[in-house]
Amino acid sequence: MSDMIALELQYGATNYAPLPVVLARGEGAWLWDTDGQRYLDMLSAYSAVSFGYGHPRLVAVLREQAGRLAVTSRAFHSDRLGPFLERLCEVTGMDRALPMSTGAEGVETAIKCVRKWAYRVKGVPDGKAEVIVCAGNFHGRTSTIVGFSSEAQYREGFGPFSGGFRPVPFGDLAALERAITPNTAAFLVEPVQGEAGIVVPPDGYLKGAERICREKNVLLVVDEVQTGLGRTGKVLAIHHEDVHPDGIILGKALGGGLLPVSAFCAKESVMGVFRPGDHGSTFGGNALGAAVGLEALNVLHEEKFAERAASLGARLLERLRALASPVVTDVRGKGLLIGLELDPARVSARAFVETLLKHGVLSKDTHGTVARFAPPLVITAEEVDWAVERIRDALREYGPVYEKAA
Ligand code: PLP
Repeated sequence: MSDMIALELQYGATNYAPLPVVLARGEGAWLWDTDGQRYLDMLSAYSAVSFGYGHPRLVAVLREQAGRLAVTSRAFHSDRLGPFLERLCEVTGMDRALPMSTGAEGVETAIKCVRKWAYRVKGVPDGKAEVIVCAGNFHGRTSTIVGFSSEAQYREGFGPFSGGFRPVPFGDLAALERAITPNTAAFLVEPVQGEAGIVVPPDGYLKGAERICREKNVLLVVDEVQTGLGRTGKVLAIHHEDVHPDGIILGKALGGGLLPVSAFCAKESVMGVFRPGDHGSTFGGNALGAAVGLEALNVLHEEKFAERAASLGARLLERLRALASPVVTDVRGKGLLIGLELDPARVSARAFVETLLKHGVLSKDTHGTVARFAPPLVITAEEVDWAVERIRDALREYGPVYEKAA
């Protein structure tokens, strides 16, 4: 195992600091390292593996399609793209979808689209369009996107950045209303801020944002790259409040944990601004990604993953909240997207997830103080309970743990 780590350290760029485990195999919610040691995955590649490792239907479609037709570019039509786009529109309630590969590309697509809408439809003077974003946002790592991050490390050393972004505090509708100007094209928001530490906004926030955006002729674009496709207990997190945005960005789980597949989905009045040649990507919408993405959307519905996330997420949240530990300062989340906030004076989140690794649970720290739990949605109730026992064992290494009465 240490040989593999040494190779990565010698030849890889040092832009990641992985936990010291070398994974070799996965099945369902479980991963095995090169020594055959088994771990319960409570991260699912930040929601990319929401449907579990090696889902038989997804792997079957991948194999069959890879042998038939994979990449042709968008210079031609393929027999897989149309059905995928149709299903994407059904699932999101949007009129059109623009497929890309990574989440960040989906976000870049949305930014280009809303800016063009601002100039062509709203009548914003050329070069003046603004997008309102939230403090604590995470929308990816391109130079445009990190330019509007509030996280110093994401920006440091990577400027100059493109202008036209105005930050407001997350969860604050009055601040959103104040930030809108005649040049505002859109409000770009995550329904739950994942990377910021699983930050859930006040109830009614997105619905309120929708009302404000409607009143002010501003587009509402929701980044569901992490929260979408069942993760929070609904197919889309916006369904918790019956929100109707103008655009939705999907990614991660859309590729079934097998491929990078993302999409920007929008209303006709918004997406209609694109003309041939305005935007594209060699791999976006390729037949292989389209076939797997379509099957991922089918599996999501047929195997009721959103319902599983709702009930198992409630179980995990309740059992974690029942653990009384001086180390834990908060437990929060929605569906199977849960954050355990730790007292940094007692343990860093990084040290805690390394302890969890020793106990057979894979998780990841975020923001120094939060361990996040977002297992594949195929996880069972017994596996959730097993994880809670391991989390309790890990917490015991830092102080006593009592079970609170439920
Ligand atoms: N948007 C959100 C909400 C995300 O959580 C992420 C990744 O974590 C992204 C966008 C970027 O996705 P990708 O890493 O595929 O570019």
